[in-house]
Amino acid sequence: MRNVTADCLFCRIVAGEIPATVVQSTDRVLAFRDIDPKAPVHVLVIPREHHADVASLAAADPALAGEVLAMAGEVATAEGLRDDGFRVIFNTGPNGGQEVFHVHAHVVGGRPLGRMLP
Ligand code: 5GP
Repeated sequence: MRNVTADCLFCRIVAGEIPATVVQSTDRVLAFRDIDPKAPVHVLVIPREHHADVASLAAADPALAGEVLAMAGEVATAEGLRDDGFRVIFNTGPNGGQEVFHVHAHVVGGRPLGRMLP
């Protein structure tokens, strides 16, 4: 793994040191429920390898970024969100509201989410 720091929360979830409710898993990507869900469905999809944010991931390993997106779509399907719709969000950097600096896609749905941009 690259750039792993002992205090990276999501690296510790990948390592099994912190419990999480896993909903999908491959050898490279993991999906688990957010501990503080903002909607009826709120799942986080992460690469097992440490990358700080989506821009870093896409630059370093575009195929892995694609695997994260593919799992986000599979989670949406498995959670029954495909008909009503859902949102995939990568908060990025301080102005983007990112709090955990191990890239993660939020897959959010199960209620109307409103428009994010005018
Ligand atoms: P960010 O603000 O970085 O985009 O999102 C971080 C997300 O991680 C938040 O939605 C937060 O609720 C979630 N989170 C923080 N700590 C934990 C944890 O220990 N376990 C799980 N499953 N989610 C967490």
